[in-house]
Amino acid sequence: MDFIPTKKISPNGDIKIQNPNASKKVYIETYGCQMNVSDSEIVISILSEHDFTTTDNIKEADLIFVNTCSIRENAETRIRGRLAVFRLEKKRKPDLIIGVIGCMAERLKEKLLEQEKLVDLVIGPDAYRKLPELIAEAEAGQTAVNVLLSREETYADISPVRYASNGVSAFVSIMRGCDNMCTYCVVPFTRGRERSRDPKSILAEIKDLSLNGFKEVTLLGQNVDKYSWEDEDGTSLNFAGLLNKSALIDENLRVRFSTSYPLDMNDEVLHTMAKHKNICKHIHLPVQSGSTKILDLMKRGYSQEWYLGRVKAIRSIIPECSISSDIIVGFCDESEEDHQETLKVMRQSEYDFAYMFKYSERPNTFAERKLENNVPEDVKTRRLNEIIALQQELSQEAKSKDVGNVYEVLIESVSKKSDKELMGRTSQNKSVVFPSGGHKKGDFVKVKILRNTTATLIGALV
Ligand code: SAM
Ligand code: SF4
Repeated sequence: MDFIPTKKISPNGDIKIQNPNASKKVYIETYGCQMNVSDSEIVISILSEHDFTTTDNIKEADLIFVNTCSIRENAETRIRGRLAVFRLEKKRKPDLIIGVIGCMAERLKEKLLEQEKLVDLVIGPDAYRKLPELIAEAEAGQTAVNVLLSREETYADISPVRYASNGVSAFVSIMRGCDNMCTYCVVPFTRGRERSRDPKSILAEIKDLSLNGFKEVTLLGQNVDKYSWEDEDGTSLNFAGLLNKSALIDENLRVRFSTSYPLDMNDEVLHTMAKHKNICKHIHLPVQSGSTKILDLMKRGYSQEWYLGRVKAIRSIIPECSISSDIIVGFCDESEEDHQETLKVMRQSEYDFAYMFKYSERPNTFAERKLENNVPEDVKTRRLNEIIALQQELSQEAKSKDVGNVYEVLIESVSKKSDKELMGRTSQNKSVVFPSGGHKKGDFVKVKILRNTTATLIGALV
């Protein structure tokens, strides 16, 4: 999934009161990937049925939740820093309940209660339905832990409260968990087995979003290409089928998705994208490494040639498609030659953007147990800097090719730099800034690109 490098995702200040009669207030901070943002919306939905509403003011909260990420060590370190701040609040207000939910809760379980004094609740990603009971236990003065993983839970019947949304785009979770077991990754341990959500509930949620004025949905899963549903009558649906049905709901509703797994992303998906104007022309196709030797050690299941073959298929079936990637440098046994292979694949793939990370060894993964984390820190840093520098060049090149073109842009917000300008995104997921011309958030407009920076396209309305 499109990965948001660990950062705080707070409510957007435009919070709708979910439950006007509620007597208690919850403050929730979300870290990590889009799946966590989507989960926080489920959590708010469950709580709003039980005497809670959200607040963005930590001082007036009765309950503080931190929805956590374990993907790299620095994600956890950052969250522990926030817990220290929440502890100060609890000293000021002893009835305050502090809950750690999500991946760090699942990974550390009861240990979190010992390590982080004053945490009251530890709740894994498949136990959110139990929140009201667990909160009641905490209110009665006990600590509560529920980290049971499920093979079935998809929260299909729960309608998420879009508390952190900009009112234009929304996340729709189509599956949970992951069965891939890449050797560096904690996700299979923190989120459990892969399971797909009933398409009826997915499509109903998308329809509802469209009726409520949303203009874009992003279908979420760790490996969307493995989406698979079989109905009782024997009819089955794969990801291309789901994408097709999603696109047909409203031709004015953009459909995005993330993440595509290079081994499983097939031409049927690409042809479905090409067929529908409203399926956005962007694929997040994380390579992780360009070296086949390293890909084998990562157990990704594909080679460099396979990956480049998938990029070629995207370019030939959807020429206007943008491609982004995730890259890890300094994985176990990564030599200078392996690193050069990564740079080569980046150049050949011409990524529009990439999320780039130093390998971080995670407890209990295959890599931690069986491989040696033997690339020195300074070499990891140098290699990271090299791939970042190359990606900046590639992003600059890709964006400069857009200059002179006209794109349809969906307006998301006022520009950060000037309230006379708006910011929106092209189908290719590139952000564009342009003078507002009386338009507003949620409008589709045609914009001619005049110039660019490495991060943004700058244009004018046509
Ligand atoms: N399921 C998605 C996939 O396979 O591409 C990605 C999910 S993961 C939440 C997001 C990204 O974090 C991965 O693509 C990978 O680049 C990075 N990542 C995962 N484990 C890591 C680790 N141990 N060290 C550094 N980066 C890691
Ligand atoms: Fe982690 Fe690999 Fe699953 Fe992505 S596909 S979540 S990297 S195990």
